[in-house]
Amino acid sequence: MVNPNLTDYSKTYKAFDWEKESQYFNGPSAGLGLNIAHEAVDRHANGGLGDTTAIRFVRKDQKRENISYVKLQELTSRFANVLDRLGIAKGETVYSLLGRVPELYITALGSLKRLAVFCPLFSVFGPEPIFQRLSKGEASLLVTNKLFYEKKVEKLIDRLPHLRYIFLIDVEEDLSKKVLSFDRWMKKASSSFSIPFTSPEDPALLHFTSGTTGMPKGALHVHKAVYTHYLTGKLVLDFHKNDVFWCTADPGWVTGTSYGIISPLVNGVTSIVDEQEFDAMRWYQILEKEKVNIWYTAPTAIRRLMRTEMDPKKEFDLSKLRLVLSVGEPLHAAEVIWAQQAFGVPVLDNWWQTETGGIMIANYRSMEVAPGSMGKPLPGIEAAVAEIDGDGIELITDTEAQGHLVLKKGFPSMFRAYLHEQERYNKCFIGDWYITGDLARRDRKGYFWFVGRADDIIKTSGHMVGPFEVESSLMKHPSVAEAAVIGKPEASVGEMVKAFVVLKEGVKENSETKLDIIGFARKELGPAVAPKEIAFVQRLPKTRSGKILRRLLKARELGLPEGDLSTLEPS
Ligand code: AMP
Repeated sequence: MVNPNLTDYSKTYKAFDWEKESQYFNGPSAGLGLNIAHEAVDRHANGGLGDTTAIRFVRKDQKRENISYVKLQELTSRFANVLDRLGIAKGETVYSLLGRVPELYITALGSLKRLAVFCPLFSVFGPEPIFQRLSKGEASLLVTNKLFYEKKVEKLIDRLPHLRYIFLIDVEEDLSKKVLSFDRWMKKASSSFSIPFTSPEDPALLHFTSGTTGMPKGALHVHKAVYTHYLTGKLVLDFHKNDVFWCTADPGWVTGTSYGIISPLVNGVTSIVDEQEFDAMRWYQILEKEKVNIWYTAPTAIRRLMRTEMDPKKEFDLSKLRLVLSVGEPLHAAEVIWAQQAFGVPVLDNWWQTETGGIMIANYRSMEVAPGSMGKPLPGIEAAVAEIDGDGIELITDTEAQGHLVLKKGFPSMFRAYLHEQERYNKCFIGDWYITGDLARRDRKGYFWFVGRADDIIKTSGHMVGPFEVESSLMKHPSVAEAAVIGKPEASVGEMVKAFVVLKEGVKENSETKLDIIGFARKELGPAVAPKEIAFVQRLPKTRSGKILRRLLKARELGLPEGDLSTLEPS
């Protein structure tokens, strides 16, 4: 068993200096600046790892496709040249709407080489969420496939004036001057590309995350975020030479980009990408067959595996597995304990969010795991629990007291903007602190424990769903007068989306109407975001200023205390 990279948490934490970590990067000393794709691909391809598998794709039919660091360099250079040829300028946004196929990864890294900003979209999104995101990010170019193009994108084109090109990965010829064949253009392009000088503060990645009240926010990250991708790979994921790593997240969620693409490559290990969605047998087989050493997944997956009642340690050869990690939702103590027994290795929960770009609080291999806790702050990160009152912030020094989880600003992977929403961005900070929007407490030993989200966001099967986004879509149904959406706890998905709907006069409250609205929402939003349950109500509880009180709907649904109702509009 290899020794952990982080042997003494307290010592490393105290002595930590971000600038020392910069010595790992090879771009700055070569006069190239700091570019994520250079650190992830070219330096290894030109260094000693050229023939090492960078990414191994397990395709839907279980076929494996290995892409070495040299091959990845060549493919991403081709794509960067394609962008160049089409006149995509520095800072323009390139989107992908694809499953976990090689073209997504080539698009991501090729865009970073060309200094375009890359934004991945979940392929399960329906046309409306796609439109919102493409339009807000002023997408210049989209890479997708024929099916998604015809079903979801084609009808949006007239409303997307910025979108100049659409690449389809599965057509041989260009369909028009705008809709092009990915393969054809890739073949024509040169396989060598010199990355332009990249400032650490140049924008790199755009990730959409749902807001409390509004439409999705676009969190913008810069190339300097690679410090966190690298450091957390070393200290939390504990990457060692020749490791095989599998992050199950889709790049449509920030985890699937920071850890499904960047962090393992920057650290020079081999990354597994499975094209298929969750399937317990298939997943165990991948762990066994690919000899996975480090596995990064989510609580929903662990819960689903728990329910199968399979005994992975007995039924599969998992002798190469060293570490299991989880992120995205609270991993309850019972789940940690089950997984540690089932896999026979440490199971480490960690916390972060789209805005932080990488892991911020974690359990570490060399540190005693407190089951149910998110762990301790990454070296270089100052985390605290605080009381917030208007513009005032006071750090809570008492242990066990609950408050807002806040992070000292200034770390490399801190998001630099909410696209076109400066005021909203500014509101995330008070003095030196970034307000995460989560509630937490810290125990005597310095471990942080997740309490809940400070707002109404719904977390369902790893997706963050903003009620407003769902409600606006429901409102488009001809029978719907008003709608409010909450998350209702459900073991298998974390929370399920439940909608309370006020029907227009004369519309019958029956199961036919319900099914029709659900079907409509699924088409608009995609199955992951659409409500699973609908209840008809006569009116929605609102504040005097007209805001829907979702927390009240939720409390009533769950039979919990209704809390402060002073602002409730009288009925
Ligand atoms: P996202 O930006 O979609 O990655 O979601 C981030 C949010 O997910 C956090 O603000 C938390 O509310 C939640 N989250 C992430 N990791 C954890 C964790 N380990 N425990 C509890 N909640 C988590």
